[in-house]
Amino acid sequence: MSPFETPVVCAVIGRTRHKMMQAELEEAGKQGAKLIELRLDFLSKPPDFKRLLEGRPCPLIATFRRPADGGQWRASEDQRFMLIRQAIVAGFDFVDLEIDIIDKIPRFGKVQRIVSYHNIQGVPDNLEEIYKQMCAADADVVKIVVTAQTPADNLRVMALLKNAPKPTVAFCMGDMGTASRVLGIRLGMPFTYGAFNKERQIAPGILSFSELHKTYSIDKINAETKVFGVIGDPIGHSLSPLIHNAAFRKLGMNAIYLPFRVPRGELASFLTGYREIPVHGYSVTIPHKEAAAKCATECDELVTKFGAANTLVATETGFHATNTDAQAALDSLRANLPLGADNQQVPLSSRKVLVLGAGGVARAIAHALHKEGVYVTVTNRSEERGAKLAEEVGCKFVNWTARHQTECGTLINCTSVGMHPNLDEMPVHQSFLNPELMVFDTIYTPETTLLIREARTRGCHCLTGVDMFVRQAGLQFEQFTGQAPPLDLMAMVVRKALSPVHIKEEGESAP
Ligand code: NAP
Repeated sequence: MSPFETPVVCAVIGRTRHKMMQAELEEAGKQGAKLIELRLDFLSKPPDFKRLLEGRPCPLIATFRRPADGGQWRASEDQRFMLIRQAIVAGFDFVDLEIDIIDKIPRFGKVQRIVSYHNIQGVPDNLEEIYKQMCAADADVVKIVVTAQTPADNLRVMALLKNAPKPTVAFCMGDMGTASRVLGIRLGMPFTYGAFNKERQIAPGILSFSELHKTYSIDKINAETKVFGVIGDPIGHSLSPLIHNAAFRKLGMNAIYLPFRVPRGELASFLTGYREIPVHGYSVTIPHKEAAAKCATECDELVTKFGAANTLVATETGFHATNTDAQAALDSLRANLPLGADNQQVPLSSRKVLVLGAGGVARAIAHALHKEGVYVTVTNRSEERGAKLAEEVGCKFVNWTARHQTECGTLINCTSVGMHPNLDEMPVHQSFLNPELMVFDTIYTPETTLLIREARTRGCHCLTGVDMFVRQAGLQFEQFTGQAPPLDLMAMVVRKALSPVHIKEEGESAP
């Protein structure tokens, strides 16, 4: 029923100048695009169809989107109809027609009609009725795009795809809808849309053409693809989809890992609703770690102790919750301990560790180190929280103002001081740093914090948060799949994503 053999990413190109639109068309062709939508409403001058169609690298969709539907069209409806008719005659392969105007635009030649409905406010109560009407209309492809206000909206839209009588593209806009743009492919959507140049703000929540190919491997997704994901709010900048999907690809697994934005307080209903997909496992991040521990039907020892989980694995009856942060931090420290004078690693248990912070990560690390027999001191800006953690762990607490007087051989920063965007902050004075000190900064955005930079300058043995981040993801991957994670590849992917050079390349990838 699909016009394509395998699922396709439709590259969406919207530029104000013909020259740039042509340049992106050519580049999309070089990057293997199999379908391109030209958002002709973006053009600042009337479209020159001949110019845009010559040398087309693949089938083209002509779209003139109205502002009410999220577009840039500024002139009258009559002028829009005239240009749509001209685009059809000029030889576009597909034309996008909103459901309310299809009677005004007659079918012509072989041009295929994508009959669309957009709602930039939310999901209408009569969504299913609208879809029924669209399927009955003269459409080759039916397209429904609404805006997710809750995670459950994605499920409602995806339900349309289950018994679709016509090729249907249905998904949710907005960052809460991002996952539906990929999940719909599993349910038979012939294509999904990807912004060829993400800086152009084509549509809220849209992924880029490049990430849909490289990270989500859209053309490999089918009904058997296993689904995993990360739950958080916000979630748009999470690196987890990048590394887990890279690992699936490396091991040749038919699996996909998606970002799910779930607002605080909605985790329980989300987990229940999304069982129907089903999702086999989740990474859990802020603000859901405590809620995840509460929602789980089984918890491992650490989760019970901390009351917080960063991993949920689906079981027959619910979810098994674990916390991979503590193990990852220990593995990371053990693998990176400095060598002593005898060229042997000084064992972890003989080190005095000062933990800065008393949040989730500090808690996991302080407990784990104490259990290993390490002499731990906790310090925290908020005295009450820090003292409570120290009491819970059974270790020493020092006041934040007294932290520089603490004797230690290893300093672990578990605060967010120095994290993006506060790059010029560090949690200790530089005079505290000496060549005998090992410095572990758990922050990984950026990898080289000011603390790490200063510590390196002063000859400290340093460990960054990337190693721990990759290991905690690796432990999750093992729980999700039962397979050993390709840690080197995962670390490489994270470092590439964090490198300023790469960010520049991404931003400049298209003319
Ligand atoms: P959290 O629960 O929110 O705790 C934040 C901690 O930072 C608290 O102790 C807080 O002190 C302290 N803090 C914040 N601003 C401060 C300031 N201006 N001065 C002094 N202390 C300040 O966060 P979390 O989940 O534990 O995460 C903490 C850090 O760990 C994050 O920055 C993140 O980058 C890193 N992390 C790394 C990994 C990894 O795998 N490498 C994983 C997760 C998190 P108060 O109690 O006084 O507010």
